[in-house]
Amino acid sequence: MAHRKKRIALLGSTGSIGRGVLDVVAKNRERFEIASLSAWTSLEQLSRQVDVTGAGRAVVGPGGAARLEVPSGVTVDEGAEALEALASDPDVDLVVNAIVGSSGLRPTVAALTAGKRLALANKESLVAAGELVMGLAREGGGELLPVDSEHSSIFRCLRGTPGDEVDSLVLTASGGPLRDRPLEELREAGLDEVLAHPTWEMGEKVTVDSASLANKAMEVIEARWLFDMPFDRIGAVIHRESIVHSLVRLVDGSMLAHLGQPDMRVPIQYALFYPDVPERAFEYCGLAELGALHFEPVDERRYPCFGLILQAGREGGTAPAIAAAADETAVEAFTAGFVGFGDIPRIIERTLRDVPPGAADGLEAILAADAEARSVAGGLTGKPGGVDHN
Ligand code: MG
Repeated sequence: MAHRKKRIALLGSTGSIGRGVLDVVAKNRERFEIASLSAWTSLEQLSRQVDVTGAGRAVVGPGGAARLEVPSGVTVDEGAEALEALASDPDVDLVVNAIVGSSGLRPTVAALTAGKRLALANKESLVAAGELVMGLAREGGGELLPVDSEHSSIFRCLRGTPGDEVDSLVLTASGGPLRDRPLEELREAGLDEVLAHPTWEMGEKVTVDSASLANKAMEVIEARWLFDMPFDRIGAVIHRESIVHSLVRLVDGSMLAHLGQPDMRVPIQYALFYPDVPERAFEYCGLAELGALHFEPVDERRYPCFGLILQAGREGGTAPAIAAAADETAVEAFTAGFVGFGDIPRIIERTLRDVPPGAADGLEAILAADAEARSVAGGLTGKPGGVDHN
């Protein structure tokens, strides 16, 4: 056998990215094996995944362990500490963090502290704790690989490009399902419309964030940390076909772009194989069939969340953690039917105003800001008892 199989801990296995990872693993069984899986509440789906992958270990949310049906010999644990143990398991070569929301932060910290190679799809880790996380990656000997399509594209463009040739980065955004809706009707957009993404198939949270462009603001903040690039050298542009996944602008006025089908399995596969080259090719996009690619500036009147979250990122400290927690709380309330789409930026703005940011010196300070923002934002949603978070 040419390679020992790479053993993977997959955190957040039942979400959209998690399922994509399992698909890539299933098609490359000679290269990868699943050591462990985690899911918080989708226990039936997790149980099937444990069966199919032969994972030896699973972690579920509090109170779920007794209810998870698994073959004998599989270790099942529950709760946040068990998740951190999974992320730092010495018997694992690659940790994939595909958890949605700020509950992904602790496992990221645990994996990097243990010196792991971490394929990161959890945006909040870098949005809320970028400086801390990058510091841990440097000091712990771990390695961070982006799984997001934009960051994976930039990562690939930068590989082989000398740093002094790089001027700035441009992230593309599809503009989401509401990009052509008249401005005055945006506030009333219903859940069905918001979830009907024109180009990407993703989970609910990311799809709503992609309609509000909160997603893109968070990705700019991620890029700031991941590529050590100041905010004024990272831009965003609306590109409705989602074929150009991002660009690197070079000092001589030329640009590198990375193009491909909008299929998350491409960046997932790249991170799983890294530093090796993926062997399984996806279809090229047919340029002649596409005919044209379109680019437009980001209209901040259409996407108020973009400016709000980006401003919090520029402000630094715990401000981006507060913005991300407010957004997560507002999006949960929107998908549960408690607030309208137009209330999401209002909740983010008021939470940022009412929760004073502090220094992001350590995980506990960041998590405290996250909790306070959740509580304030929850109070603004009108949902009884605020918004559940586990
Ligand atoms: Mg993305």
